[in-house]
Amino acid sequence: MADESSEIDRFAADLDSLAADLRTADTAFAFTGAGVSTASGIPPFRGEGGIWETEFDPRDFRIGRFEADPAGFWRDRLALHEAMFPESVGPNPAHAALVELESAGVLDAVVTQNTDGLHAEAGSRRVLELHGTTSRVVCRRCGDRQRADPVHDRVRDGEVPPTCDCGGLLKPDVVLFGEQLPRETYAEARDLAGSADVVLAVGSSLQVEPAASIPRDAARGGTLAVVNFDPTPLDDRADYVFRADVTDLLPALARRLAG
Ligand SMILES: [Zn+2]
Repeated sequence: MADESSEIDRFAADLDSLAADLRTADTAFAFTGAGVSTASGIPPFRGEGGIWETEFDPRDFRIGRFEADPAGFWRDRLALHEAMFPESVGPNPAHAALVELESAGVLDAVVTQNTDGLHAEAGSRRVLELHGTTSRVVCRRCGDRQRADPVHDRVRDGEVPPTCDCGGLLKPDVVLFGEQLPRETYAEARDLAGSADVVLAVGSSLQVEPAASIPRDAARGGTLAVVNFDPTPLDDRADYVFRADVTDLLPALARRLAG
């Protein structure tokens, strides 16, 4: 076992300095990516061991495929969902630390690329889900949103494709390949980026556009802290770079700012 405390001790001075920046910030938010989800045991889409390296083909999950073949899409979608969310997946200490930082009045929001709904499940109140969430489905006709779990059960029982009471097709409330980001959520995130004094970019490769423009824009006028194991394109512009486990680093930051 690695000694976690000494691992984080190397960052003590930077953590103290970042905590001071956050204390004096009027507006601060976290921008989270796959690294926060993988710490909960959810496989990433990209990279080694990623979902797209297995039997799943991203082309099957395009909006065009949903429209042309909704039944086939939903069968594949359910299989994907089951591969990504083994039972007992839940929030991890990184999610919990972000809840603490919001409760302490340090963070104004979490902007996330993740679609697993774990920030909300952990208790974060203002969560901007740029790519939607797998925890809901949306009706393509009336726009009604409902919980995904009962709909997944119906798909399992053979209702493919599942439909709304109005007769419209139900679609996972996530941004499929070929779809735009949800306009209002994206606009709200851009506003935050424009006014932020500090942004924490956590567990994201910062390579998926247009989402990555959010921390990039925030870094123009504010302090950028990157928490990620691998290098990112924004490291050169970051005020802090922590090559650390998000489940160690964020709790260490939250401890400095609690109370
Ligand atoms: Zn409907």
